[in-house]
Amino acid sequence: MVLLRFAPSPTGALHLGGLRTALYNYLYARKLGGRWILRIEDTDATRTVPGAVDGIREALEWAGLDYDYGPGKQGPHAPYFQSERLDLYHHYAGKLLESGHAYRCFCSPDTLAAKREKLARSGSSFTYDKTCLNLTEEEVARRTRAGETSIIRLNDSRLPTRPTPSDLIFKHLRDAHASLPTDPVLLKSDLFPTYHLASVVDDHRMGITHVLRGEEWLPSLPLHLDLYACLGLEPPQFAHLPLLLNLDGSKMSKRKGDVQVMDYKHRGWEPAAILNWLALAGWGVTHDASPSDASSSAKNHAPDSTTVMSLQEMIREFDLTLLTHRRSVLDPLKLEYLNKHHLMQKIASSDGLTELAERIHTHVKDAFPHSSHTSVDYIKDAIGVMQSRLICLTDLPVQGSYLFVDPDYLTDEACRMSKAFSHETYDKVLLTLSEHLADADTPWSESTVSAIVYDKMRESGLKPKQYMTMLRHAVTASEAGPGVTAIIHLLGRERVLERLHKART
Ligand code: GLU
Repeated sequence: MVLLRFAPSPTGALHLGGLRTALYNYLYARKLGGRWILRIEDTDATRTVPGAVDGIREALEWAGLDYDYGPGKQGPHAPYFQSERLDLYHHYAGKLLESGHAYRCFCSPDTLAAKREKLARSGSSFTYDKTCLNLTEEEVARRTRAGETSIIRLNDSRLPTRPTPSDLIFKHLRDAHASLPTDPVLLKSDLFPTYHLASVVDDHRMGITHVLRGEEWLPSLPLHLDLYACLGLEPPQFAHLPLLLNLDGSKMSKRKGDVQVMDYKHRGWEPAAILNWLALAGWGVTHDASPSDASSSAKNHAPDSTTVMSLQEMIREFDLTLLTHRRSVLDPLKLEYLNKHHLMQKIASSDGLTELAERIHTHVKDAFPHSSHTSVDYIKDAIGVMQSRLICLTDLPVQGSYLFVDPDYLTDEACRMSKAFSHETYDKVLLTLSEHLADADTPWSESTVSAIVYDKMRESGLKPKQYMTMLRHAVTASEAGPGVTAIIHLLGRERVLERLHKART
């Protein structure tokens, strides 16, 4: 059975790149009937941010990526916080010391900094000079007894033969060892492991079969493979996921705006669309099709970069061999396109529509605190009327404000509209329509409302566009919007009559 892990460091909020890594781990595990673990890599206490783990869990939950084991879900590989696994790292560091693959180093940070500075002055870059490599056992014991702090370094002159590292996505990495530092640190003076030792030990001890992680860790792969070899362990398979880029080609990093997953939640994006967007960034098709490029999907059997997919479909289609090593641009327009589709799919199901209305309910109430038209049932109907115009659920109160509160006839937009017709005709049109809509014997159904409106329009002798602009002005004061009859029906007889009256005065 495959076992994967998503291993974030709790240094801040989960960002899009992290969510994409979690998603691919999830998809691969689910596709092969395996499991995945959430492992918290908190070995650098100086970078750990309080509350970050809760934030990461909340973001994964919002996205619907349920991990099998991890914080809050105990299992056979616990504990899932690296800070609670220190004994294990010490055990493996001890093994490496015993076999001569590692050694204790007493060089203080100040000594190293001075050496680094001296080298920098002469234009050379720093590599550790192995000062402590050949200390005798007695010397090490004496200095330790004397209270000197030490770290443990890998002894790279004792490495077994190094095969060319191979990655499932980036394939063979030639000359990959060239960029490794000399004798990298494995255990720090605070007795915490470095990422490298902890990652290798945990992946081995947890029985991880596949490591899917960000491209930024690709340069560490040779070192990790060295560690497996020194410990006589079989490494898992590695797949490094290419970086995500902004539209301008710059790296999408944690520090730039717009990358935190929860920001997308707060701005009303559909989690299913975010996952869809991330899944297809780097999946299969490498050409950059525009949403309207219908022919693009015919070029490849893999999902196109704008294929609308549910999570279940993604699981079915996911294939590591379709992943590209090319960096992918996360195009916000594609998210809009995908979001609209996911939103429409939800609106089409009664449970989905209720869920959406419940989700936006507080938002609408906050936007229109004095409106008495903010019930979940009313919002459901409002979503129904506005659906074709919504990209995001949060567009509803913005684009359809007139569904919740009276329109403002004094805006520039409203004044621009009213310039297109004479006041006299406008008054007559609204009055005639009011009289007919007011008839209590007329049922208030959409078809009756339409019948009356179209009837009066024909009788008025005006062009349909002129007539409808007048009605739109009276009930919404907005130039754009869904069909006027649908709006009139949704608002209800009383509110419409009030508006027609107010618009005339
Ligand atoms: N802890 C690393 C990070 O937060 C992940 C490294 C890994 O997956 O091996 O980026």
